[in-house]
Amino acid sequence: MGISTIGFASASLPRRGAKAPIEKPRLQPGSTTKDLSMKTIVTPRGWCPASRFNKALLPLALGFYRAEGLKLRGAGKWRSALCPFHNDHEPSLRVNIHTGAFRCFVCDAHGGDVLAFYRLRARVGFVEAAKRLGAWEER
Ligand SMILES: [Zn+2]
Repeated sequence: MGISTIGFASASLPRRGAKAPIEKPRLQPGSTTKDLSMKTIVTPRGWCPASRFNKALLPLALGFYRAEGLKLRGAGKWRSALCPFHNDHEPSLRVNIHTGAFRCFVCDAHGGDVLAFYRLRARVGFVEAAKRLGAWEER
């Protein structure tokens, strides 16, 4: 199995119902922890060992969703909004303003944080989304 078959492409947008992949360096099959060096890590595009995602730097959910143009209705931590992932006419999207989690009860778009929302909406990968949201630390 070559590097190209297990690179960044496998971490592209998850299908509906699929769990978002966790971005980690991948060891090639058959390698041992002793081999954990630059050569044995399959490096996704834009990833380098000295850089990392810092969830704490993600924008706060309430401000993020407002900036994304969502009109949040209701009170409490779960708010309703028109879903941007399908042609919505009455609010089908539920958004958690504490965690950023979201789910549409019509088209089933969902995710656990604002990064997942941004990835779906901008159709970009994990690293690119993290960079654009200011949550990627370059060392
Ligand atoms: Zn929807």
